[in-house]
Amino acid sequence: MSEDTKDRGPIDAGAKEEDSRYDIALRPERLEDYVGQTHHRENLSVYIEAARRRGEPLDHVLFCGPPGLGKTTLAHIIAKEMGVTIHTSSGPAIEHKGALAALLTKLAPRDVLFIDEIHRLSPIVEENLYPAIEEFEIDIIAGDGPHAAAYRLPLHPFTLVGATTRTGLLTSPLLSRFGVTIRLDYYPPEDLERIVVRSAGLLGVPVEREGAAEIARRARGTPRIANRLLRRVRDFAEVRGTGVVDVEAARFALERLEVDEAGFDEMDRRILSTIIEKFDGGPVGIETIAVAVAEPSDTLEDVYEPFLIQGGYLKRTPRGRVATQKAYAHLGVPMPEPGQRRLL
Ligand code: ADP
Repeated sequence: MSEDTKDRGPIDAGAKEEDSRYDIALRPERLEDYVGQTHHRENLSVYIEAARRRGEPLDHVLFCGPPGLGKTTLAHIIAKEMGVTIHTSSGPAIEHKGALAALLTKLAPRDVLFIDEIHRLSPIVEENLYPAIEEFEIDIIAGDGPHAAAYRLPLHPFTLVGATTRTGLLTSPLLSRFGVTIRLDYYPPEDLERIVVRSAGLLGVPVEREGAAEIARRARGTPRIANRLLRRVRDFAEVRGTGVVDVEAARFALERLEVDEAGFDEMDRRILSTIIEKFDGGPVGIETIAVAVAEPSDTLEDVYEPFLIQGGYLKRTPRGRVATQKAYAHLGVPMPEPGQRRLL
């Protein structure tokens, strides 16, 4: 996901470098170590096995879902399980078709090309990608002016793995070229608990089950956030407590981090209270909310909104976002009687 959305995640905005360092250290390498998302994991393992037996590249795969749910991790796992090399890039980084050609011509047979934020490819680059993923060929223009000549260059068959936080922004020609599309969902607390325990093991942090469960419950269904909270709780546990991530350390740290019972951080609450207090509960457009909370609307749509909607705190209507009764209750604000509300 985009550098600007990945890192502005809930909890602390300055976690960028630390996150990417730990993302790599804590990333499961094999499919069997990937926690949860069982249905997708099982399907993927069949596709991988079938492709391996045929000696072919895996069909092109698209992963969709909010930041931190494991899209990049799965791209790396696919390459590992296929026994090939992964080449990574991102939509905005492939600035022109020459850059795309440079990437594509480096690929060995069956390699994985991972393009993060694939919805941000420029139209020209995207168009040039089509023959590459369909026929494993690219058009190269050699020379310029009257002597310019177009060549079709054959490529080794490869697998394109795309990741996007916004399927809605993908063009339909691109979408239709993926043989496999996997939409990752937020993780239930039991899966996040396993992830916390696994990460604690890798980091050498002593953790108690209830401590892990407390972190898992308040991690917004997101492995990256669970790992980030674990590191913060560890800090508090080491400095103020016994060094063990137990339920007291978890509660104390989460309170200090202003992560509430629902796993909301300060920005989640600010979004809801802005809609309720400044805009009578909505409907209000996303751009207006973005200005009011001083956060780009992209970040709101990628990072914050999906969780608030899925939890039933926010509704998306044709006229804008509306705070639900659950949002009022969470903030402890009485919901106005229907007659007192603006007409929706
Ligand atoms: P995305 O690409 O969707 O933003 P990542 O693949 O970078 O997310 O995942 C962020 C981190 O969360 C990973 O480094 C890994 O440590 C952890 N993670 C994600 N999914 C899982 C999973 N299913 N099991 C264990 N850890 C996971």
